[in-house]
Amino acid sequence: MSKINRQEITDILDGYNKEDITIATLGSHSSLHMFHGAKAEGFKTAVVCEKGRETPYKRFGVCDEFIIVDKFSDIVNDEVQEQLKDLNSIVFPHGSFVAYAGLDNIETIFNVPMFGNRDILRWEAERDLERKMMLDAGIRIPKKITDPSKIDGTVMVKFPGARGGRGYFVATSTEEYHQKIETMMERKWIEEEDIKGVHIEEYVLGCNYCIHYFFSGLNDESELMGMDSRYESTIDGLTRVPAKDQLDLSVDPSYVITGNHPTVMRESLLTQVFDIGDQITDAAKGLVPPGFNGPFCMQTLVNDDLEVVVFEMSARSDGGTNTFMNGSPYSYLYHGEPLSMGRRMAREIKNGIKEDRLDDIIT
Ligand code: ADP
Repeated sequence: MSKINRQEITDILDGYNKEDITIATLGSHSSLHMFHGAKAEGFKTAVVCEKGRETPYKRFGVCDEFIIVDKFSDIVNDEVQEQLKDLNSIVFPHGSFVAYAGLDNIETIFNVPMFGNRDILRWEAERDLERKMMLDAGIRIPKKITDPSKIDGTVMVKFPGARGGRGYFVATSTEEYHQKIETMMERKWIEEEDIKGVHIEEYVLGCNYCIHYFFSGLNDESELMGMDSRYESTIDGLTRVPAKDQLDLSVDPSYVITGNHPTVMRESLLTQVFDIGDQITDAAKGLVPPGFNGPFCMQTLVNDDLEVVVFEMSARSDGGTNTFMNGSPYSYLYHGEPLSMGRRMAREIKNGIKEDRLDDIIT
Protein backbone atom coordinates (compact mmCIF):
# COMPACT_ATOMS: atom_id res chain seq x y z
CA MET A 1 0.00 0.00 0.00
CA SER A 2 1.33 3.42 -0.88
CA LYS A 3 2.33 5.99 1.71
CA ILE A 4 0.09 8.92 2.48
CA ASN A 5 1.47 11.85 0.57
CA ARG A 6 1.95 15.25 2.05
CA GLN A 7 -0.30 16.93 -0.55
CA GLU A 8 -3.29 14.81 0.51
CA ILE A 9 -2.93 16.05 4.09
CA THR A 10 -2.35 19.64 2.98
CA ASP A 11 -5.54 19.53 0.92
CA ILE A 12 -7.55 18.24 3.90
CA LEU A 13 -6.02 20.92 6.11
CA ASP A 14 -6.88 23.60 3.52
CA GLY A 15 -10.52 22.55 3.79
CA TYR A 16 -10.56 23.06 7.58
CA ASN A 17 -12.06 26.12 9.24
CA LYS A 18 -8.97 27.37 11.12
CA GLU A 19 -11.20 29.27 13.56
CA ASP A 20 -12.78 25.99 14.63
CA ILE A 21 -10.00 23.41 15.04
CA THR A 22 -10.44 20.38 17.30
CA ILE A 23 -7.51 18.67 18.99
CA ALA A 24 -8.15 14.93 19.00
CA THR A 25 -6.41 11.81 20.20
CA LEU A 26 -6.97 8.37 21.61
CA GLY A 27 -8.06 8.39 25.28
CA SER A 28 -5.05 6.75 26.88
CA HIS A 29 -1.32 7.21 27.67
CA SER A 30 -0.63 10.98 27.87
CA SER A 31 -3.87 12.37 26.47
CA LEU A 32 -5.13 14.13 29.62
CA HIS A 33 -2.65 17.00 29.47
CA MET A 34 -3.08 17.20 25.70
CA PHE A 35 -6.82 17.76 26.09
CA HIS A 36 -6.39 20.05 29.07
CA GLY A 37 -3.68 22.05 27.29
CA ALA A 38 -5.70 22.27 24.08
CA LYS A 39 -8.70 23.67 25.94
CA ALA A 40 -6.47 26.12 27.81
CA GLU A 41 -5.27 27.41 24.42
CA GLY A 42 -8.87 27.79 23.23
CA PHE A 43 -9.36 24.67 21.10
CA LYS A 44 -12.21 22.17 21.18
CA THR A 45 -11.20 18.62 22.09
CA ALA A 46 -12.32 15.16 20.96
CA VAL A 47 -11.41 11.83 22.52
CA VAL A 48 -11.58 8.54 20.67
CA CYS A 49 -12.16 6.12 23.51
CA GLU A 50 -12.73 2.41 23.95
CA LYS A 51 -16.11 1.66 25.51
CA GLY A 52 -15.70 1.48 29.29
CA ARG A 53 -12.54 3.59 29.40
CA GLU A 54 -14.14 7.05 29.20
CA THR A 55 -14.36 7.81 32.95
CA PRO A 56 -11.18 9.96 33.34
CA TYR A 57 -12.10 12.09 30.32
CA LYS A 58 -15.56 12.74 31.70
CA ARG A 59 -14.54 13.24 35.33
CA PHE A 60 -11.66 15.60 34.54
CA GLY A 61 -13.93 17.52 32.17
CA VAL A 62 -11.28 17.84 29.46
CA CYS A 63 -13.22 16.61 26.41
CA ASP A 64 -15.95 18.23 24.35
CA GLU A 65 -16.62 15.34 21.96
CA PHE A 66 -16.62 11.61 22.77
CA ILE A 67 -16.16 9.19 19.91
CA ILE A 68 -16.74 5.84 21.60
CA VAL A 69 -15.41 2.77 19.79
CA ASP A 70 -15.52 -0.97 20.51
CA LYS A 71 -11.75 -1.17 20.49
CA PHE A 72 -9.03 1.47 20.36
CA SER A 73 -7.73 0.19 17.03
CA ASP A 74 -11.02 1.33 15.44
CA ILE A 75 -9.53 4.83 15.30
CA VAL A 76 -8.28 3.96 11.80
CA ASN A 77 -11.79 2.95 10.57
CA ASP A 78 -13.10 5.13 7.74
CA GLU A 79 -16.12 6.15 9.75
CA VAL A 80 -14.06 7.39 12.71
CA GLN A 81 -11.61 9.18 10.42
CA GLU A 82 -14.54 10.95 8.73
CA GLN A 83 -15.96 12.03 12.10
CA LEU A 84 -12.57 13.42 13.06
CA LYS A 85 -12.18 15.33 9.81
CA ASP A 86 -15.74 16.70 10.11
CA LEU A 87 -14.63 18.19 13.44
CA ASN A 88 -11.58 19.84 11.74
CA SER A 89 -9.37 17.61 13.87
CA ILE A 90 -5.64 17.70 14.26
CA VAL A 91 -4.48 14.50 15.95
CA PHE A 92 -1.83 14.56 18.70
CA PRO A 93 0.09 11.26 18.58
CA HIS A 94 1.27 9.41 21.70
CA GLY A 95 2.51 5.92 22.54
CA SER A 96 -0.89 4.23 22.74
CA PHE A 97 -2.12 5.97 19.60
CA VAL A 98 0.84 4.53 17.67
CA ALA A 99 0.43 1.08 19.24
CA TYR A 100 -3.33 0.78 18.60
CA ALA A 101 -3.58 2.56 15.25
CA GLY A 102 -0.52 0.65 14.04
CA LEU A 103 2.53 2.12 12.36
CA ASP A 104 1.64 0.75 8.91
CA ASN A 105 -1.86 2.24 9.12
CA ILE A 106 -0.53 5.62 10.25
CA GLU A 107 1.79 5.63 7.25
CA THR A 108 -0.74 4.45 4.68
CA ILE A 109 -4.43 4.83 5.56
CA PHE A 110 -4.83 7.21 8.49
CA ASN A 111 -5.11 10.54 6.70
CA VAL A 112 -6.38 12.79 9.47
CA PRO A 113 -3.90 15.70 9.77
CA MET A 114 -1.45 14.93 12.57
CA PHE A 115 0.91 17.12 14.59
CA GLY A 116 4.48 15.91 14.13
CA ASN A 117 6.40 13.94 11.55
CA ARG A 118 4.56 10.68 10.84
CA ASP A 119 7.61 9.20 9.13
CA ILE A 120 9.80 9.45 12.23
CA LEU A 121 7.64 7.07 14.30
CA ARG A 122 9.21 4.06 12.62
CA TRP A 123 12.66 5.22 13.80
CA GLU A 124 11.79 4.62 17.43
CA ALA A 125 10.03 1.32 16.72
CA GLU A 126 12.91 -0.42 14.92
CA ARG A 127 16.00 -0.86 17.03
CA ASP A 128 18.42 -0.70 14.07
CA LEU A 129 16.97 2.58 12.82
CA GLU A 130 16.99 4.05 16.32
CA ARG A 131 20.63 3.04 16.77
CA LYS A 132 21.55 4.50 13.41
CA MET A 133 20.02 7.86 14.32
CA MET A 134 21.76 7.99 17.69
CA LEU A 135 25.11 6.94 16.23
CA ASP A 136 24.79 9.53 13.45
CA ALA A 137 24.01 12.09 16.14
CA GLY A 138 27.15 11.13 18.06
CA ILE A 139 25.21 10.38 21.23
CA ARG A 140 26.62 8.12 23.95
CA ILE A 141 24.60 4.89 23.85
CA PRO A 142 25.27 1.48 25.48
CA LYS A 143 28.00 -0.40 23.60
CA LYS A 144 26.65 -3.23 21.47
CA ILE A 145 28.05 -6.76 21.89
CA THR A 146 27.90 -8.45 18.50
CA ASP A 147 28.01 -12.07 19.66
CA PRO A 148 27.24 -13.90 22.94
CA SER A 149 30.75 -15.42 22.85
CA LYS A 150 32.14 -11.89 23.23
CA ILE A 151 30.41 -11.11 26.53
CA ASP A 152 33.03 -9.60 28.77
CA GLY A 153 31.45 -7.75 31.70
CA THR A 154 27.83 -7.16 32.64
CA VAL A 155 25.39 -7.00 29.74
CA MET A 156 21.67 -6.41 29.24
CA VAL A 157 20.03 -8.89 26.87
CA LYS A 158 16.98 -7.62 24.95
CA PHE A 159 14.56 -9.16 22.48
CA PRO A 160 12.58 -7.67 19.58
CA GLY A 161 9.59 -5.41 20.15
CA ALA A 162 8.55 -3.29 23.11
CA ARG A 163 7.55 -5.83 25.73
CA GLY A 164 8.02 -3.96 28.99
CA GLY A 165 11.30 -5.70 29.52
CA ARG A 166 9.62 -9.13 29.82
CA GLY A 167 12.22 -11.78 29.09
CA TYR A 168 15.04 -9.20 29.21
CA PHE A 169 17.87 -10.29 31.47
CA VAL A 170 21.28 -9.39 32.80
CA ALA A 171 24.27 -11.68 32.31
CA THR A 172 27.95 -11.46 33.17
CA SER A 173 29.40 -14.29 31.06
CA THR A 174 28.72 -16.34 27.92
CA GLU A 175 27.79 -19.36 30.10
CA GLU A 176 25.29 -17.36 32.11
CA TYR A 177 23.83 -15.99 28.87
CA HIS A 178 23.11 -19.50 27.53
CA GLN A 179 21.79 -20.65 30.88
CA LYS A 180 19.34 -17.77 31.09
CA ILE A 181 18.23 -18.21 27.47
CA GLU A 182 17.26 -21.79 28.42
CA THR A 183 15.30 -20.57 31.46
CA MET A 184 13.45 -17.91 29.45
CA MET A 185 12.56 -20.51 26.80
CA GLU A 186 11.25 -22.91 29.45
CA ARG A 187 9.10 -20.14 30.87
CA LYS A 188 7.90 -19.38 27.35
CA TRP A 189 8.88 -15.73 27.81
CA ILE A 190 10.87 -15.95 24.57
CA GLU A 191 10.79 -18.15 21.43
CA GLU A 192 13.36 -19.30 18.87
CA GLU A 193 12.35 -16.37 16.67
CA ASP A 194 13.21 -13.90 19.47
CA ILE A 195 16.67 -15.37 19.90
CA LYS A 196 17.44 -14.64 16.23
CA GLY A 197 16.67 -11.00 16.93
CA VAL A 198 18.57 -10.84 20.22
CA HIS A 199 20.30 -7.59 21.10
CA ILE A 200 23.10 -7.59 23.67
CA GLU A 201 24.44 -4.34 25.10
CA GLU A 202 26.58 -2.98 27.88
CA TYR A 203 24.69 -2.89 31.19
CA VAL A 204 24.71 0.71 32.34
CA LEU A 205 24.71 0.84 36.11
CA GLY A 206 23.11 4.16 36.93
CA CYS A 207 20.00 6.18 37.66
CA ASN A 208 17.14 6.51 35.23
CA TYR A 209 16.16 9.89 33.75
CA CYS A 210 13.69 10.20 30.91
CA ILE A 211 14.19 13.60 29.33
CA HIS A 212 11.21 15.23 27.63
CA TYR A 213 11.98 17.68 24.87
CA PHE A 214 9.79 19.69 22.55
CA PHE A 215 11.16 20.50 19.13
CA SER A 216 9.52 23.60 17.75
CA GLY A 217 9.43 23.41 13.96
CA LEU A 218 8.32 27.04 13.94
CA ASN A 219 11.32 28.26 16.00
CA ASP A 220 13.76 25.54 14.85
CA GLU A 221 14.79 24.81 18.44
CA SER A 222 14.50 22.01 20.99
CA GLU A 223 13.21 22.96 24.44
CA LEU A 224 13.80 21.00 27.62
CA MET A 225 10.29 20.48 29.02
CA GLY A 226 10.62 18.04 31.90
CA MET A 227 12.10 14.82 33.30
CA ASP A 228 10.77 11.72 34.95
CA SER A 229 12.06 8.40 36.19
CA ARG A 230 10.20 5.13 35.83
CA TYR A 231 8.41 3.07 38.44
CA GLU A 232 8.63 -0.44 37.07
CA SER A 233 7.33 -3.84 38.17
CA THR A 234 8.92 -6.05 39.20
CA ILE A 235 12.35 -4.40 39.38
CA ASP A 236 11.25 -1.65 41.80
CA GLY A 237 9.32 -4.14 43.94
CA LEU A 238 12.41 -6.31 44.17
CA THR A 239 14.46 -3.46 45.62
CA ARG A 240 12.08 -3.52 48.61
CA VAL A 241 13.06 -7.10 49.37
CA PRO A 242 16.24 -7.52 51.46
CA ALA A 243 19.17 -8.82 49.40
CA LYS A 244 19.37 -12.19 51.17
CA ASP A 245 15.67 -12.86 50.47
CA GLN A 246 15.97 -11.69 46.84
CA LEU A 247 18.13 -14.76 46.17
CA ASP A 248 15.44 -17.05 47.64
CA LEU A 249 12.78 -15.49 45.42
CA SER A 250 14.79 -16.56 42.36
CA VAL A 251 12.82 -14.31 39.98
CA ASP A 252 14.31 -12.46 37.06
CA PRO A 253 13.13 -8.88 37.10
CA SER A 254 10.79 -7.42 34.51
CA TYR A 255 10.45 -3.71 33.71
CA VAL A 256 6.72 -3.19 33.17
CA ILE A 257 5.99 0.51 33.61
CA THR A 258 3.35 1.16 36.25
CA GLY A 259 3.96 4.86 36.89
CA ASN A 260 6.43 7.73 36.83
CA HIS A 261 8.16 10.03 39.30
CA PRO A 262 8.95 13.66 38.42
CA THR A 263 12.65 14.35 38.82
CA VAL A 264 15.43 16.82 38.07
CA MET A 265 19.10 16.28 37.25
CA ARG A 266 22.05 17.89 38.96
CA GLU A 267 22.59 21.19 37.23
CA SER A 268 26.08 20.38 35.97
CA LEU A 269 24.56 17.65 33.75
CA LEU A 270 22.25 20.00 31.89
CA THR A 271 24.85 20.95 29.27
CA GLN A 272 24.88 17.28 28.22
CA VAL A 273 21.08 17.30 28.20
CA PHE A 274 20.86 20.26 25.83
CA ASP A 275 23.64 18.80 23.63
CA ILE A 276 21.75 15.49 23.33
CA GLY A 277 18.58 17.34 22.29
CA ASP A 278 20.43 19.40 19.68
CA GLN A 279 22.48 16.49 18.33
CA ILE A 280 19.50 14.16 17.83
CA THR A 281 17.31 16.82 16.22
CA ASP A 282 20.14 17.80 13.84
CA ALA A 283 20.73 14.17 12.84
CA ALA A 284 17.01 13.54 12.32
CA LYS A 285 16.69 16.44 9.88
CA GLY A 286 18.98 14.66 7.43
CA LEU A 287 17.72 11.13 8.02
CA VAL A 288 13.96 11.67 8.03
CA PRO A 289 13.04 15.18 6.88
CA PRO A 290 11.86 17.51 8.31
CA GLY A 291 13.11 15.68 11.44
CA PHE A 292 11.60 15.90 14.90
CA ASN A 293 8.55 18.04 15.28
CA GLY A 294 6.84 18.35 18.66
CA PRO A 295 7.48 16.15 21.71
CA PHE A 296 10.16 13.50 21.95
CA CYS A 297 11.90 11.75 24.80
CA MET A 298 15.37 10.41 25.40
CA GLN A 299 15.47 7.63 27.99
CA THR A 300 18.77 7.67 29.79
CA LEU A 301 20.84 6.20 32.58
CA VAL A 302 23.41 8.39 34.32
CA ASN A 303 26.43 6.47 35.62
CA ASP A 304 28.90 7.51 38.30
CA ASP A 305 31.25 8.93 35.67
CA LEU A 306 28.34 11.36 35.17
CA GLU A 307 27.79 10.28 31.61
CA VAL A 308 24.22 10.58 30.33
CA VAL A 309 23.80 7.33 28.38
CA VAL A 310 20.74 7.08 26.10
CA PHE A 311 19.25 3.58 25.86
CA GLU A 312 15.97 4.36 24.11
CA MET A 313 13.97 7.18 22.55
CA SER A 314 10.35 8.06 21.85
CA ALA A 315 9.66 10.15 18.75
CA ARG A 316 6.33 11.41 20.14
CA SER A 317 4.84 12.30 23.50
CA ASP A 318 6.13 9.85 26.10
CA GLY A 319 4.07 8.67 29.08
CA GLY A 320 6.44 10.40 31.51
CA THR A 321 5.05 13.77 30.38
CA ASN A 322 2.18 13.00 32.79
CA THR A 323 4.51 14.03 35.64
CA PHE A 324 4.26 17.69 34.64
CA MET A 325 0.63 18.36 33.78
CA ASN A 326 0.99 21.63 35.64
CA GLY A 327 4.48 22.36 34.35
CA SER A 328 7.92 21.18 35.43
CA PRO A 329 10.84 23.17 36.86
CA TYR A 330 12.31 23.20 33.34
CA SER A 331 9.20 24.19 31.42
CA TYR A 332 8.74 26.94 34.01
CA LEU A 333 12.28 28.22 33.43
CA TYR A 334 11.73 28.20 29.70
CA HIS A 335 8.31 29.75 29.51
CA GLY A 336 7.83 31.53 32.84
CA GLU A 337 4.53 29.76 33.39
CA PRO A 338 3.55 26.21 34.36
CA LEU A 339 3.38 24.66 30.91
CA SER A 340 2.50 21.01 30.28
CA MET A 341 3.67 19.20 27.15
CA GLY A 342 0.07 19.12 25.88
CA ARG A 343 -0.32 22.86 26.27
CA ARG A 344 3.04 23.45 24.55
CA MET A 345 1.79 21.34 21.62
CA ALA A 346 -1.48 23.25 21.44
CA ARG A 347 0.41 26.54 21.54
CA GLU A 348 2.53 25.45 18.58
CA ILE A 349 -0.67 24.75 16.64
CA LYS A 350 -2.05 28.14 17.66
CA ASN A 351 1.15 29.87 16.52
CA GLY A 352 1.13 27.83 13.32
CA ILE A 353 -2.38 29.10 12.57
CA LYS A 354 -1.44 32.68 13.46
CA GLU A 355 1.66 32.62 11.26
CA ASP A 356 -0.13 30.67 8.53
CA ARG A 357 2.53 27.95 8.82
CA LEU A 358 0.47 24.89 9.78
CA ASP A 359 1.89 23.10 6.74
CA ASP A 360 5.33 23.17 8.37
CA ILE A 361 4.24 21.24 11.44
CA ILE A 362 1.43 18.96 10.28
CA THR A 363 1.91 15.73 8.35
P1 ADP B 1 11.01 -1.83 26.50
O1 ADP B 1 11.15 -0.92 25.30
O2 ADP B 1 10.67 -3.24 26.17
O3 ADP B 1 10.16 -1.25 27.60
P2 ADP B 1 13.55 -0.80 27.39
O4 ADP B 1 14.58 -0.83 26.34
O5 ADP B 1 12.86 0.50 27.69
O6 ADP B 1 12.47 -1.92 27.13
O7 ADP B 1 14.19 -1.33 28.72
C1 ADP B 1 13.43 -1.65 29.88
C2 ADP B 1 14.18 -1.20 31.14
O8 ADP B 1 15.43 -1.86 31.21
C3 ADP B 1 14.53 0.28 31.16
O9 ADP B 1 13.52 1.07 31.72
C4 ADP B 1 15.79 0.34 31.99
O10 ADP B 1 15.46 0.43 33.37
C5 ADP B 1 16.43 -1.01 31.74
N1 ADP B 1 17.53 -0.94 30.74
C6 ADP B 1 17.42 -0.88 29.40
N2 ADP B 1 18.64 -0.86 28.80
C7 ADP B 1 19.54 -0.92 29.79
C8 ADP B 1 21.00 -0.96 29.83
N3 ADP B 1 21.74 -0.94 28.72
N4 ADP B 1 21.58 -1.01 31.03
C9 ADP B 1 20.85 -1.05 32.18
N5 ADP B 1 19.50 -1.05 32.21
C10 ADP B 1 18.84 -0.98 31.04
